[in-house]
Amino acid sequence: EDRLVDRSETGGDTLDVGLRPQNLKEFIGQKQARENLEVFIGAARTRAEAMDHVLFFGPPGLGKTTLAQIVARELGVNFRATSGPVISKAGDLAALLTNLQERDVLFIDEIHRLNPAVEEVLYPAMEDFQLDLIIGEGPAARSVRIDLPPFTLVGATTRSGLITKPLRDRFGIPTRLEFYTTDELTEVVRRGARLLELNMTEEGAREVAARSRGTPRIAGRLLRRVRDFALVAEKDVVDAPHADAALTRLQVDNLGLDTMDRRYLHCIGVTYTGGPVGIETLAAALSEPRDAIEDIIEPYLMQIGLVQRTPRGRMLSPDGWKHLGIAPPPGKES
Ligand code: ADP
Repeated sequence: EDRLVDRSETGGDTLDVGLRPQNLKEFIGQKQARENLEVFIGAARTRAEAMDHVLFFGPPGLGKTTLAQIVARELGVNFRATSGPVISKAGDLAALLTNLQERDVLFIDEIHRLNPAVEEVLYPAMEDFQLDLIIGEGPAARSVRIDLPPFTLVGATTRSGLITKPLRDRFGIPTRLEFYTTDELTEVVRRGARLLELNMTEEGAREVAARSRGTPRIAGRLLRRVRDFALVAEKDVVDAPHADAALTRLQVDNLGLDTMDRRYLHCIGVTYTGGPVGIETLAAALSEPRDAIEDIIEPYLMQIGLVQRTPRGRMLSPDGWKHLGIAPPPGKES
């Protein structure tokens, strides 16, 4: 299913190259993260040293990759990117690290998916800029130590709880990214519309923003689809009713939920009479991987209070029932 919200960078995002903010000034929202980074970047530049390692955590599409690129650009260094599952052996990591130049930024997306043997090699690299490698096998095996140029590791993960404590402890700058407010996303949409040369009223932009699940990646996708509808309808200016009509046709409801979100709510509400229901059971019932549910669907539904997480499982809240348009069965009113 082609979700408007998925973890891939592809699928309609080719225009991202143009929409991605290039520096901290252009980056909208995440005020606290932005202000902190500004200080650390400035200090590192002044001392002409590598900046401390940064860990970004938060749901997909909130700007982790974008901020990592911005950090490198603002530091005036090279940006190298990879991801946890891609680095299968210690040697792969060694190759990446030994190719870095002084103060470069190495970005590891999905850092929680690093294999444990690779993670072990990363510890001394992060801490002392040293690589300890075992070369050869059996009695001929020996360990070699390689000095690395000082560098900045920027890690990204969807939930901080997913990474091991020793790894988490080695990041000097842990930074949580939050869902964006509608005001912030309205600004994101207006900026996107300007770059895409789409005429849009303030209310039109706000309509798209309010239905983007607090996530700039989704705002960008919805904006492009709204733009397609405008083109076909030969609309010169996109206003709120037009944006609403386009989003409704895309089956994005008034809260910004799509068919997958509604299937999830329906499953808890109807199949499991409001819950509590365990995540594994839900994953099986929906035929969706558990981590996709936990990373993509649930954070926003919990943020807006439609679903609650209890020790016994997920439960629909009163607002969840209301959104489903179903009266809760007796005994499940709250
Ligand atoms: P993540 O790495 O957290 O999944 P990305 O950094 O890839 O998210 O951002 C997803 C998309 O959202 C990109 O297209 C990017 O251009 C856009 N985006 C992210 N943050 C912002 C922002 N603050 N302002 C404008 N666009 C943003």
